[in-house]
Amino acid sequence: MLEAVSVLQSTPGAIPYAGGTDILVRMKQGIIAPQMLVDLKKVPEMQDVTPIGDYGIKIGAMTTLSELVENELIRQRSPALSQAAATMACEQVRNRGTLGGNLANASPSADTAPALIVLDTEIEYFSGEAMKKIPIADFFTGPGETVMKPGDLLVSITIPDIARKAHYIKQTLREAMDIAAVGVCLSMKIHGELSSRLVLGAVAPTPIRVPAAEALIDKGKIDEAAEEAARAAAPIDDVRSSAEYRRAVIAPLVKKAYQIVF
Ligand SMILES: Cc1cc2nc3c(=O)[nH]c(=O)nc-3n(C[C@H](O)[C@H](O)[C@H](O)COP(=O)(O)OP(=O)(O)OC[C@H]3O[C@@H](n4cnc5c(N)ncnc54)[C@H](O)[C@@H]3O)c2cc1C
Repeated sequence: MLEAVSVLQSTPGAIPYAGGTDILVRMKQGIIAPQMLVDLKKVPEMQDVTPIGDYGIKIGAMTTLSELVENELIRQRSPALSQAAATMACEQVRNRGTLGGNLANASPSADTAPALIVLDTEIEYFSGEAMKKIPIADFFTGPGETVMKPGDLLVSITIPDIARKAHYIKQTLREAMDIAAVGVCLSMKIHGELSSRLVLGAVAPTPIRVPAAEALIDKGKIDEAAEEAARAAAPIDDVRSSAEYRRAVIAPLVKKAYQIVF
């Protein structure tokens, strides 16, 4: 890993290359023209999937989307992440695209982000000369932007050792191969006090948690929670959907997720 970091830090215009499914599209469209692509495929620290305690899991950034769908440990401990990955792209893209690439690319509609935020996931990234660990909720700073600076590397993510049930719903305009017009992910803690997490994707510059709606869900006030979530969104019009449509589908999706999780 240090070798990759050293090249990234010392070469102006070098960027990390994971599966290339975002990079190559943007290069082809002339949006980016990197001076060097630093291939991460053989960086050992970024490959493994490791259990933590009874419920937690650490997942290397280079884990492919297909592995998120198929890996038995991920399916058992983080089914919403497997489910979110299964909605993404097509088999060919899932075989190359990675978890780290999806998060570092920081699209507001990135499907893996909501499923990880509702599990209180932490992100480990190498920055400067040290590893840093932050809550994933603090990772995204805007469309295509994260706290990482040029030269930084996302190394792994850690889902804490807490049992949570979660479900992700992706609203798309086409049935297959489509980016989310709206994503909704809801989780609740299985043991102890109710403590839900609600995250919306594709309706704001970054995926957003809605704490006010979570508090209402914990009180069983699902109709009010769903309306609160719709109010919290700041959707835009784009090629995939109008802002009006996006806002209109949030409340029904939150109610649907609630019925599945509770
Ligand atoms: C046809 C098609 C359909 C798609 N459908 C979906 C979809 O339904 N949902 C969805 O969310 N996405 C979708 N995508 C987008 C893309 O496939 C995913 O975002 C994928 O997970 C990107 O991973 P990658 O490994 O290919 O990233 P790359 O293209 O290799 O990299 C993406 C960005 O992240 C940076 N990067 C990569 N890894 C790291 C790292 N470890 N540390 C720091 N920076 C890093 C790169 O420098 C680059 O800026 C689709 C793409 C295509 C082409």
